[in-house]
Amino acid sequence: MMSRTVRVVVIGGGYAGVMAANRVAGGKPGTAPVEVVLVDPGAQFTERIRLHQVGAGGRDSAGVEWAEVLHPQVRRVQARALSIDSEDRAVQVGNHEPLRFDWLIYAVGSGEQQTALLSVTNPAAAGSTREAVAGLAPGSAVTVAGAGPTGVEAASALAVARPDLLITIIAPSGLVHPLTGRQAVARRLHHLGISVENGVVDPVTGTITSGGHSRPAAPATIWTAGLAVPPLAAESGLPVDGDGRLLVDATLTVPGHDRIIGAGDAVRVTGAAGAHLRASCAAAIPMGAHAADTVLAHLSGGTPSAIDIGYLAQCLDMGAGRGHLQFVHPDDAPRVVALSGRSAGWVKEQVCRMTVAWLAREARRPGSFSGPAGPAVAVG
Ligand SMILES: Cc1cc2nc3c(=O)[nH]c(=O)nc-3n(C[C@H](O)[C@H](O)[C@H](O)COP(=O)(O)OP(=O)(O)OC[C@H]3O[C@@H](n4cnc5c(N)ncnc54)[C@H](O)[C@@H]3O)c2cc1C
Repeated sequence: MMSRTVRVVVIGGGYAGVMAANRVAGGKPGTAPVEVVLVDPGAQFTERIRLHQVGAGGRDSAGVEWAEVLHPQVRRVQARALSIDSEDRAVQVGNHEPLRFDWLIYAVGSGEQQTALLSVTNPAAAGSTREAVAGLAPGSAVTVAGAGPTGVEAASALAVARPDLLITIIAPSGLVHPLTGRQAVARRLHHLGISVENGVVDPVTGTITSGGHSRPAAPATIWTAGLAVPPLAAESGLPVDGDGRLLVDATLTVPGHDRIIGAGDAVRVTGAAGAHLRASCAAAIPMGAHAADTVLAHLSGGTPSAIDIGYLAQCLDMGAGRGHLQFVHPDDAPRVVALSGRSAGWVKEQVCRMTVAWLAREARRPGSFSGPAGPAVAVG
């Protein structure tokens, strides 16, 4: 007798979701045929780690055709998932009939727009930033709120694309982030003419408070402080942390909802296996691979394993082919070795290309991203 087709629905076609969908689609689990459905609103895959370049005007788009990165047998539904019914195992997608699932992989990322100010967090926001920047007169001031990696990358890209602007990065304690707080980063920012100021930017108005005084917002303020996850899990009654991240165990399964698996920025892995994971493309890709492995283990009657993801390096794009690369221990703590300048910029560019290449290769040769043995390595 022919077995019933098993349907695996993946919500979110970012780095984690595409890796997961490709790996399940190409897996050889048990005897039942498997249908993989990817739900994502985008007309293209977004290379989110390049959106600062788009916002600055140095790059037209961060879009990649789906056919380049997605397994041909993955069915794509171009829409936003509105709710998840974990009891009936169904996802509400627009006005369509509920999409039933046997297994669900939740990978909606962290590209929610947090503020009415400019940002580079998703393609629409980066497009608006690009337009606003293009309209700025020479000599205009621009505030970049936030001195983390996205703030430094956005400011650097902008300084290269528009050297005629007066760019200031503003954060409560300046450059104190473990990656951006390096001397080589400060030197590069200085070289690009970017100022760094201790202060607070109002997330609604862009008003700046610094040294006990307030001043009006700059003609353009780019908000880069923090990533916000979509409220889908919380609104669907699934367990979330205080920021709305779906809670999953070390196999990436939601406790109490064993048909729901999560990966990427939108989830928080409880326990020691996930304690060092930060929201990053670097972690999203191996998490996506592992989410697929958990589903494949169930489908073939096996037992899912715990994640084992170790970081290798963190890298920054500092514009015009220059960068900063910090080697790290598997738990993401910095090593003494770092690279800066053109060599780091070259490595950073290769890492960006590799992320898309990994997805594309997994679409053609499923299982190629990482084998079951040994820790998955995360760079980015
Ligand atoms: C400018 C910038 C630079 C960055 N640089 C780096 C870097 O150098 N290194 C690094 O490691 N990380 C970097 N990051 C962070 C990195 O982009 C994220 O950590 C990564 O994209 C997370 O991958 P993900 O698959 O979890 O989610 P995402 O890539 O955010 O993808 C999630 C997808 O889900 C979709 N989605 C959302 N809600 C729904 C819904 N309800 N229904 C269906 N689909 C939905 C979204 O539209 C999106 O396509 C950067 C981020 C930015 C913004």
